[in-house]
Amino acid sequence: MAENILSGVRPTGNLHLGHYCGMIKQLVDLQNNGEYNEFLVMIADTQALTDNAKNVDKVKNNVVQVAIDFISAGLDPNKATIFIQSQVPQLFEMTGYFLNLVTVSRLKRNPTIKEEIKQRGFENSIPAGFLTYPVSQAADILTFDATIIPVGDDQNPLVEQTREIAQAFNTTYSPIFKLPKAVIRNQSVCARLPGTDGKLKMSKSAGNGIYLCDDESTVKQKIMNAYTDPDHIKVSDPGKIEGNVVFAYLDAFCKEEHFAKYLPEYKNLDELKAHYKRGGLGDVKVKLFLNNIIQEILTPIRKKRAELEENIDAVYEMLFNNAKKLRKMADKKITELHEAIGINYEKFKK
Ligand code: ATP
Ligand code: MG
Repeated sequence: MAENILSGVRPTGNLHLGHYCGMIKQLVDLQNNGEYNEFLVMIADTQALTDNAKNVDKVKNNVVQVAIDFISAGLDPNKATIFIQSQVPQLFEMTGYFLNLVTVSRLKRNPTIKEEIKQRGFENSIPAGFLTYPVSQAADILTFDATIIPVGDDQNPLVEQTREIAQAFNTTYSPIFKLPKAVIRNQSVCARLPGTDGKLKMSKSAGNGIYLCDDESTVKQKIMNAYTDPDHIKVSDPGKIEGNVVFAYLDAFCKEEHFAKYLPEYKNLDELKAHYKRGGLGDVKVKLFLNNIIQEILTPIRKKRAELEENIDAVYEMLFNNAKKLRKMADKKITELHEAIGINYEKFKK
């Protein structure tokens, strides 16, 4: 039986190359070749507010931006149902019931939440909404009976939490939820693409991203400033590949045909890496090669974005229509949940 696919993004900024290789490529592949019943892509504005309560403008303004990024990067609005989380308020109701099935200590043990708390300086003052966002994420997935969740690897513990909540519900009340699974790209660098600073995963909140909407010169500047090997000072010095983000990006995006086109003195990435390691290959040359590849990927995305920006109203219209359909779907699941818990009082009416 065909399954439901759901993925999402927080509208805390435009989409970057980490999203492109970690999530969007999988989504586009599934969209075009997979078998599915519903293909849902959520713009998680209420989740974004859990650590941006006072930054409403940022969240609000990025909703349409993210929708444009998704479509520019290959999502087909006729196949993918892109929607805004806050427009399906049933998700909040579902979250409320799930909160009874998870403990605070379990939430605090979630490795992704731990890392994000540290990154945001929330150690002594975690907003309750932030600590519990994995529960609302479980609601997003389970309300729509989604079982295939294409994500980057930081989402693994969150999908695991969703499975636990579904199991807890199914055993406490009645088995109405299917267990979802995270689908993570097996090309490991794409499961967690590093940021241009080399320190963390590329993320909107860390400000270390190359964005799909960045213009040509911004992209080039970011690549030329990207972290490489600090001990590779002279061209003749041997260089390190591990931790070098330029090579991480080449692992993610470079194909053999790029060598023939932009750097014909090498046959493939292995040859380029070997030369870098033994010394005699400068960072600038490698960075200019990477820049050619990234610009080739981003040029058609920028073109499509410019077209969509001509008619922002149509993008909003699509989002609103999709939410209408999903509210109906969510209502059905809420009724099922009320029945499973036993709080469907209608049946007691005389
Ligand atoms: P924020 O910093 O606000 O959390 P983000 O850049 O981490 O933003 P999200 O909206 O949290 O982006 O993530 C959306 C999806 O993209 C998730 O499936 C996540 O795993 C994936 N993703 C985000 N960053 C990367 C990355 N650097 N590499 C691979 N996948 C990523
Ligand atoms: Mg994130």
